[in-house]
Amino acid sequence: MRLSRYFIPVSKDVPSDATIASHKLMLRTGMVRQNGAGIYSWLPLGFRVLKKIEQIVREEMDRAGAIEMLMPTLQQADLWRESGRYDDYGEEMLRITDRHDRDMLYGPTNEEMITDIFRSFVKSYKALPVNLYHQQWKFRDEIRPRFGIMRGREFLMKDAYSFALSEDAARVSYQKMFAAYLNTFDRMGITAIPMQADPGPIGGDLSHEFLILADSGESEVYCDKAVLDVPAPGADFDFDDLNALEAEMSKRTQYYAATEEKHDEAAFNAIPADRQVKARGIEVGHIFYFGTKYSDPMKAEVQTKEGDLVTIHGGSYGVGVSRCVGAIIEASHDENGIIWPDEVAPFGAGIISMKPDANDVAAVADEAYAKLLAAGKDPLYDETSDRAGPKFARMELIGLPWQITVGPRGVKSGTVELKRRATGEREDLSLESAINKVMGT
Ligand code: ATP
Ligand code: MG
Repeated sequence: MRLSRYFIPVSKDVPSDATIASHKLMLRTGMVRQNGAGIYSWLPLGFRVLKKIEQIVREEMDRAGAIEMLMPTLQQADLWRESGRYDDYGEEMLRITDRHDRDMLYGPTNEEMITDIFRSFVKSYKALPVNLYHQQWKFRDEIRPRFGIMRGREFLMKDAYSFALSEDAARVSYQKMFAAYLNTFDRMGITAIPMQADPGPIGGDLSHEFLILADSGESEVYCDKAVLDVPAPGADFDFDDLNALEAEMSKRTQYYAATEEKHDEAAFNAIPADRQVKARGIEVGHIFYFGTKYSDPMKAEVQTKEGDLVTIHGGSYGVGVSRCVGAIIEASHDENGIIWPDEVAPFGAGIISMKPDANDVAAVADEAYAKLLAAGKDPLYDETSDRAGPKFARMELIGLPWQITVGPRGVKSGTVELKRRATGEREDLSLESAINKVMGT
């Protein structure tokens, strides 16, 4: 993309209610625009990152055997009356009446709707287990929307819903999501720690919130430092291997990790002192098993092999897709701007032409652009006539993983400058070597 033809409304001033780094940086880089309390437009740069995250989530859900679909944002109140949540949900639910005086709502989550879809079509054990997911906008009328898109009112969530014949089978569905979440966040370049969470009315140990450690986090968290070093299952993890699934979960749960609500001071103090981490965290995902909470009142039943009718066991699994954009920035920035991890960067590399009106400089910069474009690296090409200082500052602020600077002096000696944003390391190289390095070859 040529910067001169793109739309990145970079700005110096941010409103005073932007108190945390990610909120400030998303406004300064023109990633989002607030349209109302907790309601945002995703401008081109922000939209690119959001799409990348959505795609990572999609690939990892698919790998774990979940099946993508799409449910609407608007729902009929009647389904929620069946589950009993229409009255229970409270003020966070945005209620709407249509022209025929029907009660509707903007979905804050989709358990009722998916359970209705499931019960309409699935009648036999043969279709189980199944896990259906979508990535759709949600609305929750949060009392205090803040921190930009991190606690918005309208936000993008990936929500998956599993259906299984028994509690044991539901445990397997749960473990698959547990492992998939570890891979998902790992690919985004963040360390999300699964922490014991409140399981709600059913009890049991099948409820985890995934949190990343950040000073700006809203939750107080406690964990054993050792949990940070457990590697993610990885791309070749076998989701059909039941022993591997069980092992993945115990690898982490052997170490203490809990949010404030589940914190056990005695257990925490039993950890060696140099491994006790008391920090703040941002919740980026939440998985839990809820048994027959929805299938019971909504009569989601299937016939077993023996011909008996049984109520299915469900679980739901959320990722705050839009919140992840902010969480990644919280975890990865410096005083000059954002430092995008490679997999989620809006563009793979930036090219700065120092003198776009000098033919020899323009030729090398154009070549760098054409080559990276052809190689699928999606470069952002700053060929504007702005001054050098502001150009560098802007590229640094946007925070692409690599920067290639083409200037008159280098062009004379046949080199460009390659800089890695994360480390600040710079070197003068031939254009070919620089491109090879960016391509990781
Ligand atoms: P929180 O405790 O942060 O309010 P929650 O427990 O209400 O979250 P869930 O219902 O588990 O959230 O939703 C799944 C995920 O959606 C959360 O883990 C979080 O990442 C994201 N999420 C929830 N509320 C918001 C919000 N207001 N803005 C952005 N993302 C959100
Ligand atoms: Mg939660």
